[in-house]
Amino acid sequence: MRRPTPADRPSSGRAPRPRQAPPEQLGFEGMPERLFVCTPSKLGTYVDCPRRYRYAYVDRPAPPKGPPWAHNSLGASVHTALRNWYALPLDRRRPEALAGLLRGTWVREGYRDDEQERAAYRRALGWLEAYVETLEPDVDPLGVERVVAVKTGVLAFNGRADRIDARSGPAGPELVIVDYKTGRSGLDADDARGSQALALYAYAAERVFRLPCRRVELHHLPTGTVAGHDHTVESLARQLGRAEETARDIMAAERAVADGADPDEAFPTEPSPRCGWCDYRRTCPTGSQLPGKEPWAAVERTVESESGEV
Ligand code: SF4
Repeated sequence: MRRPTPADRPSSGRAPRPRQAPPEQLGFEGMPERLFVCTPSKLGTYVDCPRRYRYAYVDRPAPPKGPPWAHNSLGASVHTALRNWYALPLDRRRPEALAGLLRGTWVREGYRDDEQERAAYRRALGWLEAYVETLEPDVDPLGVERVVAVKTGVLAFNGRADRIDARSGPAGPELVIVDYKTGRSGLDADDARGSQALALYAYAAERVFRLPCRRVELHHLPTGTVAGHDHTVESLARQLGRAEETARDIMAAERAVADGADPDEAFPTEPSPRCGWCDYRRTCPTGSQLPGKEPWAAVERTVESESGEV
């Protein structure tokens, strides 16, 4: 459903606080319109909460963020270890290498204490050891943390896919977008189907590499499961259309603020359970009324749910 845009709302005339006014749309016939430069995360932030988008991408100086999250540290550590795994020569891609890879780029921020951090490290190492057993040892992906970019009439999209595999399909070589997940809950095919980020990566990869890219997969390391979905040309186009609609809403909101609309109205709050995990909860008038999560809460649940170690 289309979100109401500032153009739909009356302006209160309060002073704007834009980082800078977007370039003016002159509208001369034949002149290209400004493209909205975005990543999946930028689009997703606005869809989740326009106010959070404003704090993260519009207000300058940006409001202070809360402390770092342990689950982000854990996710980043695992992702980096897998990236570096593929940087090893084939004959060194052995499970014994994983401890060194993980330790070498381990991110320490956000954990409750050393004991919790050690438990998370052991758990992450176990995930990685089990995961690499499922990989074909002699096969290199087409891309690892590969940036793909594409322009449409509205978007200049770019994003970094965790992995892009080249596999044999019934009609020849085809690409698969792989996204690693380290959160607690398992994922199913609906998550893969509904992920706008994965769909945009697939759309972009198909154009960058000039090979079909319809399959997207979420690889959930804690459970060793893969949730996949096979897109069609139509379903990718639908996801792209939604992304463009979001981009238009954001540009309308930014333009409204530049024209004098109240930034609080142009980028309204959208309270939800996500507020407890929001980096800007302390700044946000709505979020500051709600209880926040401890930085290590998600990791505590992840580690406890698997082993009861913490
Ligand atoms: S605390 Fe909630 S309402 Fe406020 S910016 Fe964050 S997500 Fe939006």
